[in-house]
Amino acid sequence: MSADPTTIPAELGDTFRDAFGREPSGVWSAPGRVNLIGEHTDYNRGLCLPMAIPRRTWVAAARREDRRMRILSRQVPGERTIALDGLLEGNRGGWAAYAVGVLWALEQAGHEVRGLDVVVDGRVPLGSGLSSSAALECAVAVAAVDLFALEGLDGDDGRRRLAGVCVRAENDVAGAPTGGMDQSAALLARADEALLLDFDGDRPPVHVPFDLAAHDLALLVMNTRAEHSLDDGQYGNRREECLAAVAELGLGSLRELRPPDLERVLPRLSSEVLRRRVRHVVTEVDRVTRTVAALESDGFAALTALFDASHASMRDDFEISCAELDTAVDTARARGALAARMTGGGFGGSAIAIVRTDLLDEVSEAVAAAFSDCGLREPELFPVTADGSARQER
Ligand code: ADP
Ligand code: MG
Repeated sequence: MSADPTTIPAELGDTFRDAFGREPSGVWSAPGRVNLIGEHTDYNRGLCLPMAIPRRTWVAAARREDRRMRILSRQVPGERTIALDGLLEGNRGGWAAYAVGVLWALEQAGHEVRGLDVVVDGRVPLGSGLSSSAALECAVAVAAVDLFALEGLDGDDGRRRLAGVCVRAENDVAGAPTGGMDQSAALLARADEALLLDFDGDRPPVHVPFDLAAHDLALLVMNTRAEHSLDDGQYGNRREECLAAVAELGLGSLRELRPPDLERVLPRLSSEVLRRRVRHVVTEVDRVTRTVAALESDGFAALTALFDASHASMRDDFEISCAELDTAVDTARARGALAARMTGGGFGGSAIAIVRTDLLDEVSEAVAAAFSDCGLREPELFPVTADGSARQER
């Protein structure tokens, strides 16, 4: 493993040559992400505010003349060969479904593709809520766009279409019912900016200034390493509860509600659980709007209360936090972090803290010590800046 987790792994080219006996045509990468605020809102036609992080997934790739993908990953043992034809009925390749699914979804969208030889090497921790799955999909997607000279998939509008293709790969081939935030972040993010995504209709993303360093602040990622899986049913279950609430209320989506509507609407729901779920989504979308307003007026101070309320809402109303996430967030806040909350789908994974640069070491050490005191696995802690989107590297 190369020492710097933010640069192209040195072994990528050699691994490709050893595996396939030829040179790769190029190297492409896509970033992981953290979501600053707005959780479980994408599939509710709401708002979220992710940013890309400098931990990326790199792919070395070359075209094949047949319709198969041969792929290996330096994170997972074993090479896979998967046929594009009959993919949904046949072998989807386990983890490789995220990659071959992109070729399949490109074809479904009317693009002409063939097979690929691919080597994957990533520094986005797998299954940690930092979106290694979308990083893998989007790295393969930009490679395919270049290698097959696909049209209409670059520029801001093209990248939005490509994000849709990657969502389809994850939903229909990998079988994870995720909502679109991750792929949009990986394909549309810009350095030193967060990305405001609006899932109500087809609205273009808005780039929001997020240059923490200019304010002597840093963003600390706290990967709890607690078990996290989006396809074990919990994520889908929350999604279904939101849909059930929408049906009971006779709405098109929860986006139609604002916080002042809750008092009138919540009593109409059939259970306390649905009331809590709706309250989370509606207040969370409102918090995204307030966060963006604060960032656009340079007001990082307002993030303290917004992140606190967001974390509490996910813990108490949406019930997707866990002991590890609460320990990370509570400790960071107690040690002077300006703001902290869990990020991503929940049930483990990662939390984030905005910390004054001179407090970074102190907060990191305190979080590590708190995990040790509670008998929890050692967390992985690292600061990040807002990075750029998927790209060709060489
Ligand atoms: P997250 O996206 O938060 O990391 P997911 O459960 O959505 O978590 O996706 C993780 C899955 O994506 C892994 O279990 C694996 O199947 C696949 N994956 C992501 N990155 C890689 C990689 N570098 N090599 C192999 N598989 C990967
Ligand atoms: Mg994922």
